[in-house]
Amino acid sequence: MRQVVILGSTGSIGISTLSVLAAHPQQYQVLALTAATQTEKLLQQCLTVKPRFAAMLDAQAAKTLAAALKQAGSRTEVLTGIDGLCQLAAHPDADIVMAAIVGSAGLLPTLAAVEQGKTVLLANKEALVMSGELFISKVKQHGATLLPIDSEHNAIFQCLPAALQQHTHDQSINDFGISKLLLTGSGGPFLHTPLAEFDRITPEQAVAHPNWSMGHKISVDSATMMNKGLEFIEARWLFNCQADDIDVVIHPQSIIHSMVQYSDGSVLAQLGQPDMRTPIAHALAFPNRIASPVAPLNFKQMRDFTFTEPEPERYPNLYLAIAACAAGQGATTALNAANEVAVQAFLAQQLRFTDIARLNAQCLDHFSGFHVSTLDDILALDLQARHYAQSLLRKGL
Ligand code: NAD
Ligand code: MG
Repeated sequence: MRQVVILGSTGSIGISTLSVLAAHPQQYQVLALTAATQTEKLLQQCLTVKPRFAAMLDAQAAKTLAAALKQAGSRTEVLTGIDGLCQLAAHPDADIVMAAIVGSAGLLPTLAAVEQGKTVLLANKEALVMSGELFISKVKQHGATLLPIDSEHNAIFQCLPAALQQHTHDQSINDFGISKLLLTGSGGPFLHTPLAEFDRITPEQAVAHPNWSMGHKISVDSATMMNKGLEFIEARWLFNCQADDIDVVIHPQSIIHSMVQYSDGSVLAQLGQPDMRTPIAHALAFPNRIASPVAPLNFKQMRDFTFTEPEPERYPNLYLAIAACAAGQGATTALNAANEVAVQAFLAQQLRFTDIARLNAQCLDHFSGFHVSTLDDILALDLQARHYAQSLLRKGL
């Protein structure tokens, strides 16, 4: 029986993880569930799954949860605050930690799991974008196993030679005959929207992704293609490669989840429904396979299967992230922070869709020469970039 901690269990990835686990009660037990503020959702999950522990970031929410659990006769113990989250991520009985908190808030709990040498299933791409070099050096130092949940990176991982899968952080992909990692992306809801209409895009339109059902932040990132930019940086760290080794291809059907091109001309791809329960099941069971509730593909009903290049005018955020990746760790930490501020402001209708890239570009410009190496440096730069982005917002860009 493997014991699983789910960080961010009330979110889209958290719910998909619980759905896969529910199909395999003999193999996995949920040790702990965590959330930020959604008491009612976490209460229902705790009553269904009966974990030993739950944690909420918010102290008042944790109190309410503990009282409701007690009243329902549950024995789940409730922890609180960032310390509570980190404690559960590092719990001695945990075998697998699903890192599915959204944004930079996931960094400390995810690192807490890494530092205990856990098997970490990484959905929280922002943690790696913020701290890539430090994060991977801690994975190596503590002998943690890092498995990608992001569908693109999970696809690439599945297309790697088995000998490289065991050593993605030490070996060079080129030594295994790999010439390119091809990251695919759908292009989001505005692939065909006239550019002249971009100023008037609303949050409702931006979060309505054509193929995937996800949390609001990643949905907006998918619409701007900042998501693919963050994934570009994520791939650079997960697969120990450089910006030149990675290409982005638009594939609107979201059936191919990414590809690996080899020097002999072969291209290996991973295909499947756009449903996160497939990469989650893959990573939970790796190197074995378990069933997931996802329907198989039906090739006889697939009409179009197309590929194009992302246009720079349509997706400026993608190209900002690629530039940040080349500039180094300070640039990616600052860009990630700026983007979190920009997306939140856009969702709160304080910023136009097209201003997300404007704000990100100004922050990247300001901070791209910054150098960070320690965790304290990274957290300080993250905060500084947020303050800078907020000051730009107040000034009205
Ligand atoms: P979501 O918004 O649906 O859920 C986020 C979860 O994190 C919730 O449980 C929430 O309570 C918790 N959370 C939010 N802020 C927190 C904080 N400050 N401290 C502690 N917990 C906090 O997000 P999601 O769509 O499930 O995405 C989660 C992560 O997975 C993101 O990093 C995203 O980029 C990545 N990801 C998601 C998908 C997807 O299909 N949803 C696909 C690939 C990668
Ligand atoms: Mg993805």
